Amino acid sequence: MSQPATLRGIRDEVSSGARAAVDVCREALSRLEALDAGLHAFNTVTAERALARAAEIDRDRAAWRDAPLAGVPVALKDNLCVRGVRTTASSRILDSFVPPYDATVVARLEAAGAVVIGKTNCDEFAMGSSTENSAFGPSRNPWARDRTPGGSSGGSAVAVAAGITPLAIGSDTGGSIRQPAALCGIVGLKPTYGRVSRYGLLAFASSLDQIGPLTRTVHDAALTLSVLAGPDPADATSAPEPVGDYVAALTGELGGARIGVPSRMLDHGVDAEVARAFKSALDTLSSRGAVLVDVDLPHAKYATPVYYLVATAEASSNLARYDGVRYGYRAGPGEDGPAKAAQGAANAEHGPAKAGHYVRDVRAEDDLRTMYSRTRERGFGAEVKRRIMLGTYVLSAGYYDAYYLKAQQVRTLILRDYDRAFERVDVVAMPTSPTAAFKIGERVTDPLQMYLGDVFTVSANLAGLPALSLPCGFTTDGLPIGLQLTGRQFDEATVLRIADGYERETGWWKEQPAI
Ligand code: GLN
Repeated sequence: MSQPATLRGIRDEVSSGARAAVDVCREALSRLEALDAGLHAFNTVTAERALARAAEIDRDRAAWRDAPLAGVPVALKDNLCVRGVRTTASSRILDSFVPPYDATVVARLEAAGAVVIGKTNCDEFAMGSSTENSAFGPSRNPWARDRTPGGSSGGSAVAVAAGITPLAIGSDTGGSIRQPAALCGIVGLKPTYGRVSRYGLLAFASSLDQIGPLTRTVHDAALTLSVLAGPDPADATSAPEPVGDYVAALTGELGGARIGVPSRMLDHGVDAEVARAFKSALDTLSSRGAVLVDVDLPHAKYATPVYYLVATAEASSNLARYDGVRYGYRAGPGEDGPAKAAQGAANAEHGPAKAGHYVRDVRAEDDLRTMYSRTRERGFGAEVKRRIMLGTYVLSAGYYDAYYLKAQQVRTLILRDYDRAFERVDVVAMPTSPTAAFKIGERVTDPLQMYLGDVFTVSANLAGLPALSLPCGFTTDGLPIGLQLTGRQFDEATVLRIADGYERETGWWKEQPAI
């Protein structure tokens, strides 16, 4: 296939008038239509809405000339609310939920000229690392269709890697932007905790969740962050910190950059080809004048268990709201569940809630508790139930101190390790994932094995730090490998500058899957 355009390429063409936004939008939709049956990146396609938006931009081109994302097609993870568009979090329990408001990131993207073409598949409520926990079936990796694209923002990564959109938005609680970016050969950025408003994101773990971009280049991630970042009165956890000019930060300069390498952490469990690509990325950085510094993150080995205690505890609380009363699906007596309805609705334009699944009166023969538990039993998938049970357990009287409180204490130690490292270095480098893309079905029956794959991504969320994954090579089987750079709080600019310097030197992003 010919090189799909970057975000910058499309924006420049639309704002200069070389191309109509409607043509760009049609092309994205037709590529989606041609590829999505095989890849399943999308849960919902918003074709009509997108074409109407693009036509508005074309009608008033002068007003949009300086818009940073003029005419750029964007795919949104299906846990981000768009007013009037079905938003499922890939869960049966929300299979017919149509939010009455836009997430702040959606409003900001559209105000910047972006055109939303659809909602992408993900692990149910963003819980997973492979997109296999979706109630609508897994997404497939465009580099090898028998493999997962990673997760949980797998559909977003596939949309970009397959050249359907130059930009997708994901959420990252423990790696869900960075790991699928790595496994699909693209760039994924998790900003600092608080950098981007989460108003309108269906919450998974509130002390960890962040929203961020998936793109083909570091430049495009920097530009998107400039659009998304900044405080929001609708999200009290959004930070007042000033937003930098992230594109201006991309000087290409690597000389003197101090890069921390936690080499002790990398001794075990990293696939040999990933280790080789990582080492060669470090060699490239140092040949361009970066200084490699060995750092110790002594508590990082506890990051995965700490994450799975904190994240499940918060999830059990956040998911209590899905009770059959306030949102989405409600199970009536003797009903089989919404699975069929969900399949029929997948890939359909948004529409009104289905009778019998959205609003239903509690039957006289049914008491409230029975209705709650039947709804949750049928509406949630196995992994979500596992997490709710784990989270409820670690918060329960008698176990709280031993598990949840202890995890919070170790979380502080992990944060301090990073603070100490950042006294000596500008960023910390690690592989994003210990392996390249794994086969569909290979880990899904073994949750512990799936969780262990998150070893390099979860600590940035626990410490609230910005972290980015970008391509750094391929396995001999042609599967992409990701390099992760983690920075100081609110210092996305340095992370982006070093990543961009590396990208300019290597050009891995130009490689395309054969589709
Ligand atoms: N893979 C991790 C999990 O399953 C992270 C998910 C995420 O970042 N949303 O919880």
